[in-house]
Amino acid sequence: MEGGNPVGDGRAGIADQCGVFGIGFHREAAGLTHFALYALQHRGQESCGIVASGEEGIEVHRGMGLVSDVFDPASLARLGRDSDLALGHVRYSTAGSSSLANAQPLLVRYRRGPLALAHNGNLVNAGVLRAELEAAGSIFQTALDTEVIAHLVARLADGGPEAALAASLARVRGGYALLALTDRKLIGVRDPNGIRPLALGRLGDARVMASESCAFDAVGARFVREIEPGEMVVVDEDGIRSTRALPAGRPAFCVFEFIYLARPDSDLMGLNVHAVRKELGRRLAERCPAPADMVTGVPDSSLSAASGYAEAAGIPYEMGLVKNRYIGRTFIQPRQEERELGVTLKLNPLRKVVSGRRVVLVDDSIVRGTTSRHIIRMLREAGARQVHLRIASPPYRWPCYFGIDTRSRGELVAAGRDPEAVRQLVGADSLEYLALEDLVDVIGAGSSFCLACLDGDYPVPVEGEDGHGC
Ligand code: SF4
Repeated sequence: MEGGNPVGDGRAGIADQCGVFGIGFHREAAGLTHFALYALQHRGQESCGIVASGEEGIEVHRGMGLVSDVFDPASLARLGRDSDLALGHVRYSTAGSSSLANAQPLLVRYRRGPLALAHNGNLVNAGVLRAELEAAGSIFQTALDTEVIAHLVARLADGGPEAALAASLARVRGGYALLALTDRKLIGVRDPNGIRPLALGRLGDARVMASESCAFDAVGARFVREIEPGEMVVVDEDGIRSTRALPAGRPAFCVFEFIYLARPDSDLMGLNVHAVRKELGRRLAERCPAPADMVTGVPDSSLSAASGYAEAAGIPYEMGLVKNRYIGRTFIQPRQEERELGVTLKLNPLRKVVSGRRVVLVDDSIVRGTTSRHIIRMLREAGARQVHLRIASPPYRWPCYFGIDTRSRGELVAAGRDPEAVRQLVGADSLEYLALEDLVDVIGAGSSFCLACLDGDYPVPVEGEDGHGC
């Protein structure tokens, strides 16, 4: 994606969101969660954490940075000492709210014992609820939506954690995949519209839940099914049970999981992410051909679409950009010049490949436009004769309020600009986007998806939107 996570991809614009993983009951629960977080690292690189629970109590370890930075043998040994339940989280946030206090999972103790919460998504009415809770005496320690849920659960604790969680979530609006851990229970809940992904898997007798199926592969678990919108799944020593915790709303799975967010080896809604992206690229080539000598993609999220484009267009696919994979979170780039420097460090054009050639540059999306402009300039400086930009999704014109970090129309280059104006801004020889009808046709059943950032039709009312999601 042109937007991309400024930390992970050195790109400016849309941010990756968060990833969650939970397991119960397995004697390697903490270690397996650690592996799973590696598989989910693409969903957030700013902070991560694990809460693990066993007969002797509950432990937490959280830190800023990549999974490889945060956990060491000592922290893993402490988490793994006697745990058979664990919950893990990787987080992306905007730079302003990036701090250890906001790392997840959140662990609180209330009158029913410990409660750990980790979520991916954003609650659009979190600010209103927080103000209400504060007026009633609650003291908040983080900027997280998750803490709003924790306070609601503590107030509604009489019926036990499951009932309290369901009653609390009935008060919130937004898109979320939430995992909770009490001392002897793992609970997963998905928002009523199913905006954010959450899947259920199995590892022997243990049950696992994760944002993406690639986390199951990492721990040797088998994908069982996706958790339904509004469903609550509880894993405890009696086994597993499912309840309809919240009435299901209009189905609205985030189409950007397919376009950019998820890993290509994950399956979502029964479809493989790589296969969908490749088909989007094929469709783009059929609809938007370009006179070119080679096709290249912006690593990594656009490579599947670029290979589909090349195949369908009959133009050779070449590695025109090389990604430096060893830049960690040190490169958080709050200012534009630093972001552009981040792109230069992260992506390098392959001069011998692009020099003198007409290049089709395939990207999965454009959010702010600044990174596309920078990449196109790099390709030209490396000798590319022409650069034809092809975007494997429709123009991103509306902000997302459900866990993706684009909060105002003003920051979106395609809002209020036609493709020609965007082309001039990014400096491409030509620019074309995939049509919305083609996107919907490729993913099938467009009515099951959230397309709000593309068509402005939000599945959940967003007036007075707020919240510090994940
Ligand atoms: S607005 Fe876009 S990014 Fe946000 S949930 Fe909907 S499809 Fe996903």
